[in-house]
Amino acid sequence: MKALVLEEKGRLALREFDSPGTLGPRDVRIKTHTVGICGSDVHYYTHGKIGHFVVTEPMVLGHEASGTVIECGSEVSGLKPGDRVCMEPGIPDPDSRASKLGIYNVDPAVRFWATPPVHGCLTPEVIHPAAFTYKLPESVSFAEGAMVEPFAIGMQAALRARIQPGDIAVVTGAGPIGMMVALAALAGGCARVIVADLAQPKLDIIGAYDGIETVNIRETPVAEAVAAATDGWGADVVFECSGAAPAILGMHELARPGGAIVLVGMPVDPVPVDIVGLQAKELRVETVFRYANVYDRAIALMASGKVDLTPLISGTVPFEESIAGFDRAVEARDTDVKLQIAMPE
Ligand SMILES: [Zn+2]
Repeated sequence: MKALVLEEKGRLALREFDSPGTLGPRDVRIKTHTVGICGSDVHYYTHGKIGHFVVTEPMVLGHEASGTVIECGSEVSGLKPGDRVCMEPGIPDPDSRASKLGIYNVDPAVRFWATPPVHGCLTPEVIHPAAFTYKLPESVSFAEGAMVEPFAIGMQAALRARIQPGDIAVVTGAGPIGMMVALAALAGGCARVIVADLAQPKLDIIGAYDGIETVNIRETPVAEAVAAATDGWGADVVFECSGAAPAILGMHELARPGGAIVLVGMPVDPVPVDIVGLQAKELRVETVFRYANVYDRAIALMASGKVDLTPLISGTVPFEESIAGFDRAVEARDTDVKLQIAMPE
């Protein structure tokens, strides 16, 4: 079967690759339909590694996928061939201590698609545990189904924030994840969400949603904009989604006394943090790594119409042109949020 393979740093190939393996009793075989290109896929392509995850042998990319069930293992009951689904790409060890605690996203043994040495899903067929495969309601398209994965990170951030109805939130960084966080925060009960970035085209895209205000930090310091929006009190929740050192150093200035900071963005290198700035307001600091137990909620919000992610799908390329799609993703155009690959019919 053909797959999009990262042969090594900087070199992709669309070529024959091993079949996905054997179907276990609790697995389903899925014909993939749409696969989103993620910043992490692009980073493996351009840098060959993320932190201590290093690509040392050819790896199939892709982890944001939807598709159709074509075969079920003998013990699978909740799914049947023909079901439209999306897949949660991290498979934990169900017996691990982390899984038993419900925090399977931080299970050291988790196997996550397109994280070395685990292959991803940019191939026409995959085998996946039924427990991590979710049925898509009629009203959720395959393209939206492939957006559940990045939106799940926004959901995890909103849950970690412990949003209360009417909260005012700030999101620093309007990349795809910052946008997902902003929409999840709004859906989670925030009255207003202020999104800050320096790229105006990104702000224009996310600012088109009701309830979202934007600040271009080239024109107005974000602390000034937040103070103006909150009568000098500060935001209830600050979602740091840029991973940029200056934003991290200044994040306490955006929060109200007793507020919360949620760290979502990942700085490439360690960055300084103003501990006293955080202490002086007794800020609660939360961190987010992927997600756990949020797929059902994410799909429910999308199905209800409360969250519409379709404006964030900037382009779709056919599987045969997926290398060109990746090269466009590497360009990181300010007008592109999410690029997707349409798998062969
Ligand atoms: Zn992703």
